[in-house]
Amino acid sequence: MSQPRVLLLGAPGAGKGTQSKRIVDEYSVDHITTGDALRANKGMDISELGLEYDTPGEYMDAGELVPDAVVNEIVVTALEEADGFVLDGYPRNIDQAEFLDERTELDVILVFDVSEEELVDRLTGRRVCSECGANYHVEFDQPEVEGVCDECGGELVQREDDTEETVRERLRVFRENTEPVIEYYDGTEAFAEVDGEGTPDEVWANVQAAIDERV
Ligand code: AMP
Repeated sequence: MSQPRVLLLGAPGAGKGTQSKRIVDEYSVDHITTGDALRANKGMDISELGLEYDTPGEYMDAGELVPDAVVNEIVVTALEEADGFVLDGYPRNIDQAEFLDERTELDVILVFDVSEEELVDRLTGRRVCSECGANYHVEFDQPEVEGVCDECGGELVQREDDTEETVRERLRVFRENTEPVIEYYDGTEAFAEVDGEGTPDEVWANVQAAIDERV
């Protein structure tokens, strides 16, 4: 059987990245994440599109969505190379969902439910390793030595879009643009809601059960 095609939906901070890593290890699929791809290309010159900003990074630091033309291109290239995937951070609006529909089928669509206050706490307290990308939290998941990554010794930093003001804007953008995407998929066979408020291990048990029921 070919590898599963999994889509994770949920607000910023809902745990999509954490669960994606586990799915990659367990099911040997590719991780397609537009957020990471865009962070690696924050300074790319997109001025020829003639839109509001000239680089992806300016949209990201404002908490806004990067234009579909840029993001769709990243996803098409990644899908062509993948045999099975977990897609995380895309689609974030209905146009992207329709674009995706034309290019691939999905076996599993999981939505993580987490309350808004919990999301704000998770995101504003999040610290990431500037070398390997591992995630920590100032209260819930501290490294052994403050400011230093347990895995690789890299420096822990706050993502520029994890400040409270930008986090609130990202959650507003999620409600406006991405909640309709959840409604778009709701009711399809692949669709399942997962309680995202437990520990990573608790959420993982639900994620694995939902995937195994569908593939
Ligand atoms: P994330 O790491 O998924 O929270 O994404 C960080 C930022 O990257 C978002 O706030 C957006 O500015 C941008 N971004 C990521 N994925 C998309 C997408 N599918 N469409 C538009 N912008 C995106």
